[in-house]
Amino acid sequence: MDSLTAGIILILLQVCIALVMAGVFFAAPTEKCTRYWALAGSYIALGVLIAILNSRHPRSFVLLSGGGLIMAGLIYQWHGILAFYKKQAPKWSWLICLAFLVSLGLALHLNVPMAERSILFSVFTLLLHILSFRAVWQGQNGPPQTFVQRLVQGAILLLMIGNVLKLWIAGVQICEAIPATRTTFDVVTTYVIPAAGTVLFSIGLLLLYFERTIEENRHLATHDELSKLLNRRAIVAAGERELDLSIRLQRSLTVAFIDIDLFKHFNDEFGHAAGDTVLAEVAAILQKTCRSIDLVGRYGGEEFLVILPGVDLNGAALIGQRLINAVRDYRFLGEHPVTISAGLATLPLDGNCSWAQLIRRADAALYEAKDMGRNRFCV
Ligand code: GH3
Ligand code: MG
Ligand code: MG
Repeated sequence: MDSLTAGIILILLQVCIALVMAGVFFAAPTEKCTRYWALAGSYIALGVLIAILNSRHPRSFVLLSGGGLIMAGLIYQWHGILAFYKKQAPKWSWLICLAFLVSLGLALHLNVPMAERSILFSVFTLLLHILSFRAVWQGQNGPPQTFVQRLVQGAILLLMIGNVLKLWIAGVQICEAIPATRTTFDVVTTYVIPAAGTVLFSIGLLLLYFERTIEENRHLATHDELSKLLNRRAIVAAGERELDLSIRLQRSLTVAFIDIDLFKHFNDEFGHAAGDTVLAEVAAILQKTCRSIDLVGRYGGEEFLVILPGVDLNGAALIGQRLINAVRDYRFLGEHPVTISAGLATLPLDGNCSWAQLIRRADAALYEAKDMGRNRFCV
């Protein structure tokens, strides 16, 4: 492949990437990362276009603007990753572009041959790819875990390998005094590897973005805003699943209905905002007091539902008391006491019980606890 065709392919790919990223940005303008990636695609496309148009009769000004645009594009690519992980771009970022322009300007002024200039370009490109790689690594806290994370890091590694190969070619050309002509190998490292790497990298970044959006939406659909616990739909679905599993595996299961005592009075006396704070704190106490395999959800208002897999009648009494004590012993809003009542129901030994029946029994036990004077549990 000749360098002109390869270069045009690289430009077209970058333009497509810029358009796709711009499309995603216009769909969700609050996400800054896609805006940066759209800018990166356009700057790199324009930079490569200038470099190609100018390749036969290189003029310093055009070489500087083409190279500068490519560096700016790579800086935007890196800033997009930082924005994706909600990190601030360091203030010195644009000094990299300035340093590149100054060194290239100096090299052109001193008539440094193309192979040496190519080393300069590859060193700066490599540096920016390393910064992007580091941003992804730090953003996801270490090695990649999902396929998409591996794809993104693999793509940046491919781009870095391309840079190293270009450095090596330039080194050979300098040592053996070979004129810096465009061999096939050179075309591959200059255009083909960057094209393949950029496509994989950009698609990977988009997938990373969608992966996070899906996860955020799933969390929103299953969690309650105030208490941060599972919402009613999610805790009921999880409870029904646990019940099926417990019946099939002949395992014990307990559900606990929990209600804050006299919460209406609390709201009347201290206001709804204080009530909300107490609700969130009770939720946190319940979550902390339960085991990691237990499921805690907000059933509605000031009522919570706890699913306790593997817990039988004896365990239910222990856990019931532990939950009551944990809330009673906590000092809310300047020492104001808050208590809860709990109704627990355990799956019968013969496993003959539907979800609705289990919940009804727990609810009845809760009413009993309230009738007996609150701040207690009934099984
Ligand atoms: P009992 O001990 O019998 O449960 O008395 P109670 O006052 O807690 O019972 P009731 O069901 O009559 O009142 C529940 C109160 O919980 C009414 C409502 O103001 C309050 N509540 C429900 N959801 C919220 C919420 O999200 N925030 C606040 N601050 N209060 C809430
Ligand atoms: Mg209630
Ligand atoms: Mg109540």
